Amino acid sequence: MDQPKAERPPKADYARIATEEAFAPAEMMNIWRKILEGPDPDPGFVSLIGFYMTSQAERPRHIMNCLTDLGAMRLRHMEEAGIDRQVIALTSPGVQVMEADSAVDFAKVANDELAEACRNHPTKFSGMVAIAPQKPAEAAKEIERGIKQLGLTGVIINSHTHGEYLSNPKFWEIFEAAEANDTPIYLHPNTPPRDMIRPFLEVGLDGAIFGFGVETGLHALRLITSGVFDRFPKLQIIIGHMGEALPFWAYRLDYMHAATVRSNRYESMKPLKKKPSEYLRENFHITNSGVAWEPAIKFTQDVVGTDRVLYAMDYPYQHSIEEVHSLDRMQMAPEVKKAFFQTNAEKLFKIS
Ligand code: CA
Repeated sequence: MDQPKAERPPKADYARIATEEAFAPAEMMNIWRKILEGPDPDPGFVSLIGFYMTSQAERPRHIMNCLTDLGAMRLRHMEEAGIDRQVIALTSPGVQVMEADSAVDFAKVANDELAEACRNHPTKFSGMVAIAPQKPAEAAKEIERGIKQLGLTGVIINSHTHGEYLSNPKFWEIFEAAEANDTPIYLHPNTPPRDMIRPFLEVGLDGAIFGFGVETGLHALRLITSGVFDRFPKLQIIIGHMGEALPFWAYRLDYMHAATVRSNRYESMKPLKKKPSEYLRENFHITNSGVAWEPAIKFTQDVVGTDRVLYAMDYPYQHSIEEVHSLDRMQMAPEVKKAFFQTNAEKLFKIS
């Protein structure tokens, strides 16, 4: 059931802080099971969570065991992989698949559980605040409680909520609260919503292999084009998986955004104060979760800056000791590698 053995990565000149690591309270599985058994559940949720909750294959069983552990097993896996600290968040889709009132209530339960684990292991765990975007005012209050009272750091939002995107101003109270509490928001993937998923699902590409990246990249881009960062210039959004491909798109986004605005083609695409790529460089941090690949990491550092690219393992979904070795071996200036593994995360998540 455990990872195949690989040598523990040796001590390095940097601490390895993994910044997109997942957990799930056992009680959440019961809520999720009821949603799966209820009328007309979301097809992406059925495909992803329906699989994880019922499959007897080794990989999903390993993942489900690891997700609910915030103690000895997780710490042992970190030790074996040379991970000094995890920044932990409620796994996707978290409370966002629930109806609004349960989502608000369960986010608090999850945050209390995670905060307790962080208090028990203050040198090993940091945790992000889960919120229910379904109720933006409640979400804003929970951000403040999570940061100020529970000692959590960062906010996790698992992309769309019942097919709705945070580019809609009805959600912007959440951004106001993040900015006011000086905390970043991690925009983590979810499966594509009902209106988008069919062509992915029919060929098995709806999940982490591709659908996640397309859906979350779209979400992040919607934040840019809707003017979120003109309204909240200090807001910091974290996206994983090497920026969900957006750095690779940056040139074309700039060109076509300017062309589209000039030709006044869409009511929904208004002029912005800056180019899309400038928001990527000023309002985003990017983790390499799921992408232990030197060329992609270096390209992204080149596009958004070495101070904005961070390490993540994506435990337990991509629990690979080999990947830590391969990242240790990257040909990179020592100070840049230390920023990637350690100091960028310390600064962004206020870890001391
Ligand atoms: Ca993840």
